[in-house]
Amino acid sequence: MRRRRNVKIVATLGPASSDEESIGKLFDAGTDVFRINMSHTDHKLLRTLHQRIRKVEAARGRPIGILVDLQGPKLRLGTFEDGEVTLQAGDQFILDSDPAPGHGKRALMPHPEIFAGLEVGQPVLLNDGRVRLRVEARDATSATCRVEVGGTLSDRKGVSLPETLLPLTPITEKDRADLEAALNLDIDWVALSFIQRPEDLAEARKMTRGKAAIMAKLEKPLAIERLADIIEMSDALMVARGDLGVELPLERLPGLQKQIIRGCRRAGKPVVVATQMLESMIAAPLPTRAEVSDVATAVFEGADAVMLSAESATGKFPIDAVSTMSRIGEEVEADPNYAAIIAAQRAEPEPTGPDAISAAARTVAETLNLASLVCYTSSGATGLRVARERPSRPIIALTPSVATGRRLALVWGLHCVLTEDAQDETDMVDRACRIAFREDFAQAGQRIIITAGVPFGTPGATNMLRIAFVGSNGAGAE
Ligand code: PGA
Ligand code: MN
Repeated sequence: MRRRRNVKIVATLGPASSDEESIGKLFDAGTDVFRINMSHTDHKLLRTLHQRIRKVEAARGRPIGILVDLQGPKLRLGTFEDGEVTLQAGDQFILDSDPAPGHGKRALMPHPEIFAGLEVGQPVLLNDGRVRLRVEARDATSATCRVEVGGTLSDRKGVSLPETLLPLTPITEKDRADLEAALNLDIDWVALSFIQRPEDLAEARKMTRGKAAIMAKLEKPLAIERLADIIEMSDALMVARGDLGVELPLERLPGLQKQIIRGCRRAGKPVVVATQMLESMIAAPLPTRAEVSDVATAVFEGADAVMLSAESATGKFPIDAVSTMSRIGEEVEADPNYAAIIAAQRAEPEPTGPDAISAAARTVAETLNLASLVCYTSSGATGLRVARERPSRPIIALTPSVATGRRLALVWGLHCVLTEDAQDETDMVDRACRIAFREDFAQAGQRIIITAGVPFGTPGATNMLRIAFVGSNGAGAE
């Protein structure tokens, strides 16, 4: 089974898609990585979903990535006496620490530590940015605000503080418990929500103990200010346009998306574009023209993956959403402008053996129009560097590690296959040729290029490049 596109698809599971049959269909339609959103999933359901995904993986014989998305310090108001209130511009409104239900003059802000970080003059956005307040005074337990943009608030609506450096741990008690539950299963990626500083990622890395790779969700303006350091400290990034678009003006999103994708491509870190990509498919079997264009923009920019949230989790057409995304990916990548647009943003290799070898492998594959690039990668590091080259020929990543194969499922262009380390050079060529043939990445009589590290089986030692003929039965031939 091979996909005919480089861009990968992340699909969020939810009530519309959680049974084993649906997960199988989502995979067949094109899902490469399944996202489990811990804002809506308890530990029992987490285990059930994990088990179902792994069953589909075993049945299909392809590594599948599992991304567990932690809720993070999402701030929410308390409840209201009448269930809701309507605020008018010019009103005074107080956020405080009193657990009593709120009314037209005040509401509970159940995170007392934020009052220390709030400063006079800073904005407070409520209900996904629909209601806007500005802080006029504050003390240790309350903030007195002026309503700038009025509107209706109801129980437990979200609160955003775009300009406030929150003295909150990015990993809440709930996140810790969710993370432990996830790490007890073999999951591949953990996404961290609302991170603000590179240090937040160091804390997460201690907790994951290498059992899962770390994806930082970019959804705070303060994280954007420290983008380079956050990219450096993460294993992958998500352009989380939902919350980012609440905290920043919406018109900044397209430019930021490009900036983030380019920064990640330069660093060789996978990047996922998320939220509202095919939003109208929650209710309709066809997307809008604008949505198709939005997915295409991410593909043309060379993003590693595009993501579905409610479209696949709660929508009426989860399978169609995935197959639509998949078709957009295939079509854009077949477009005559695609290769040149991707190549224009290619980053120079860094002065390391794996980068030099990866760059050379791409050049050779493109110059000789080889059938595919086959790279041996045990930790996944070389797989990432080859993908960073964004070659115009397909890539197979061969790995002896199930965990590596699953993590790399997220990465642009990598078709991962599990296989033992090569014994010697003959075995290396033979194995690569047989797998390329079997997986439909080379036909008999075509040539492939192989990257590997000698001595075999030593991680981080990519130092070899080899062109090989695929023989009549798929075996390697000189
Ligand atoms: P969420 O993150 O779906 O967990 O809120 C993505 C986003 O904010 O875009
Ligand atoms: Mn979010």
